[in-house]
Amino acid sequence: MMSGEMQYVTNPRQNVDLLSPKMRTRRSLLINNSLCHGICNYNCTLCGIGKNHYTGPKIYQPLAVTEKLIREIHIAASRGIHIRGIHQSGIGEPTLHPAFAERLGLFEQMRRDWKAAVPVPDLVVVTNGSTLLDPDIVSALTTHRVSLAVSFPTPVPEHYGALMMEDATKGASLLETVIPGIRAMMEQRAAGRIRELAFYISPPKRDIIRPDFHRTIQFLTRQARDAGLDTLNLVLFVTSFNRTGLVRNRIKTIDFYPDFFKRYHHRTVNDVTVEMITSYKKFYPNLRDVVDLLKNYTFPCLQNGHLLIAADGSSICPNDQEARNPFGQILNDSIESLLIKKERYRPNTTCARCDSAPHQMSESWTARLYSWIARARLRFSRANDSHTQH
Ligand code: SF4
Repeated sequence: MMSGEMQYVTNPRQNVDLLSPKMRTRRSLLINNSLCHGICNYNCTLCGIGKNHYTGPKIYQPLAVTEKLIREIHIAASRGIHIRGIHQSGIGEPTLHPAFAERLGLFEQMRRDWKAAVPVPDLVVVTNGSTLLDPDIVSALTTHRVSLAVSFPTPVPEHYGALMMEDATKGASLLETVIPGIRAMMEQRAAGRIRELAFYISPPKRDIIRPDFHRTIQFLTRQARDAGLDTLNLVLFVTSFNRTGLVRNRIKTIDFYPDFFKRYHHRTVNDVTVEMITSYKKFYPNLRDVVDLLKNYTFPCLQNGHLLIAADGSSICPNDQEARNPFGQILNDSIESLLIKKERYRPNTTCARCDSAPHQMSESWTARLYSWIARARLRFSRANDSHTQH
C-alpha cells in the first residue's frame, strides 16, 4: 500500500478499541519524559521546536505530572511491566527546567524505593551539552549519579552551528562552551560520579555526519583519553524525521553506517576502545522486541513503540512534536492503559503528515520486509474489525 492508499483516522477518540483492554506488549519499555516541552536554547535543523511555524506547547513539566508518572511507574513495575530506562529528554532541553535538580532527585528516590521484582530502570539525561559547565546542573547530575547522553554530531564548528542552530557562524562560540562541558563530564565519569556517559551522533543529517565522522571519533577519543577514560560509547542515529511536517527532510534513506561499525566498533583509537550501537538497536535490542511490536501493535510504527510523556502528562508519539494527537494522559491513565492506547491506534491525521510511517520504509530489503509485514498487520486488524461488525 502506498501512502496515498493509507486510511487515516480523523477522530482520536475513535482511534482506540477499549473493548478488550489488556496490554499485549511483553518487551521491556523505555519512557521518554519531557521535563520541558517546546523550550530549548538550540534550534536543531531536524527539530520543529524553535521554528517560526511551531505552534505546539511551550511548558515546563508541573510537579504533579512528575509525581504521578513516578507513582504509575511503581504500579506498573509491581504488575511485572519491565521499564528498562527513563530518559529525561523529550521535546526540549531538560536541563533548562527550573527545578531540574529536584526532579532528578524524585526519580532517584524512586530508584531507592524500588521494591518490584523487575529490575530498577536506568535514569538517563539526554542533553545538547550547552549547560554542562553550570555548577547547579553538574551538581544535579553527579549527586544523583545519572547516566548522561550528549548530542554531539560533529566537532567541525561551522557544521556544528549549522546542525544545532541552523547557523554555521554560531558553531565556534557554541563549541567554546560545549567542549569544556564534555571534557568535564568525561572527568566526572572517570571519577565514577556519572553512571554512564554516551554521545548521540545526532541530529542524523547524513550529509554532515558521514564526512565528519572520522574527525568526530578522533576528537572524542582524544578527549576521553586525556580525561582518563578507556572507553567511548557512541549511539548512531540512523534516520531523520520530518517531525510530522514541521521540518523538511530531504534525505529519505536510512543509513546504518556499516562501514563505520566495521572500522571502529570494538576498536582502539587513541588508546580508547570505541563501542558503537545504532539508535534502533538501543530502542529494540533484540529481534524479539521487533516481533513483539509487529505482533501487538495494530499500526507497528517503530518510532512509536515506547512511551513519551509530554510535559503536561500527555502520551504522544516522539515525532508528534506539537502534541496534536495524544494517546492518553498520565494524570488519568496507568502506564498499562497508555500502552494499550498505543497498541490499538490506527494511522491518524498526524501520521498523514509524517515521513516515518512503516508504509514509507523502502531503503533496504529489511526495511521493505518490515514495511510489508506492518501493512499486512494493519490490513489484518481492519479485516478482523469488519468481520466482527458483521
Ligand atoms: S507515522 Fe504516526 S506514529 Fe509513526 S512516527 Fe509518524 S506520527 Fe508517529
